[in-house]
Amino acid sequence: MNRLLNSIIENNKKWTKEGKVASYIPELYKMDPDLLGIYVCTLSGEEYFSGDFNKKFTIQSISKIITLMLAILDNGKDYVFSKVGMEPTETSFNSIINLEIKDPHKPINPMINAGAIATVSMIAGKDSDEVFQRILKFARKISGNPAMDINQNVYKSEKETGNRNRALGYFMKSTGVLDGNVEEILDVYFKQCSLEVTCKDLARIGAMLANDGVLPSSGERIVPRDTARIVKTIMVTCGMYDASGKFAVDIGVPGKSGVGGGILACVPRRMGIGVFGTSLDEKGNSVAGIKVLEELSKQLDLSIF
Ligand code: GLU
Repeated sequence: MNRLLNSIIENNKKWTKEGKVASYIPELYKMDPDLLGIYVCTLSGEEYFSGDFNKKFTIQSISKIITLMLAILDNGKDYVFSKVGMEPTETSFNSIINLEIKDPHKPINPMINAGAIATVSMIAGKDSDEVFQRILKFARKISGNPAMDINQNVYKSEKETGNRNRALGYFMKSTGVLDGNVEEILDVYFKQCSLEVTCKDLARIGAMLANDGVLPSSGERIVPRDTARIVKTIMVTCGMYDASGKFAVDIGVPGKSGVGGGILACVPRRMGIGVFGTSLDEKGNSVAGIKVLEELSKQLDLSIF
């Protein structure tokens, strides 16, 4: 398997020359554009890796599946989806348009920024610090990485420049979607996006979801099977922004990308996969990362469809 991963990384390295490193968060633009890595965790406990699997990057939008799980654990799915929709979108991840022209009281899904900001507002905690500490603790547990933490430079950069997210937050406050202090909710959101991970962390989280909510390493149940099912379904329909349909056709597994270059994929009852390739296409997905997953999916017949 390591040999297969090495050859897939080698074959697809050329794609790191396509696309661009995210620049709208200035600190992200400092990342090396040529990086490409993969980590695979099978449900029977084998782990395989290749390329820049050890390099750290920020989790960005992949954190949205973590906060969705916590919000459902805290409130139940009916409450969460009374506030946030579950439909895919044809507009970009940070778009504001649907908030006004579709249902003004509901962001379209929890994987776009508006939906994720609304989701984080539902996580329990006496203040924003406690909410973030709960997210961090949960992320450390499901990744098996007790050292996971914020990249302070990215966090500051996001906070300084996150005016689009601020606009989404205040718009939702005006229509009653958000309760509470918008700046505090956004602060938690900026912190969750700035968590620093490697491909291994993503693969481990993917393996827990692939295993229906149970950590393969210890057998500990993290979320009910139904919650894992919901999160995987939302990943299929909404996880790759407005390119989720193509990802489903070409790769065929639940996936979630982030503008840090990461993609978390999960193959139900088989494995979790973490991929990292810094350069992004115009939708915000890692160009080379998608190519790597496409080849792996073909070679191992991973599509669930
Ligand atoms: N922190 C990023 C933002 O809010 C996350 C976007 C992403 O990864 O899609 O714009």
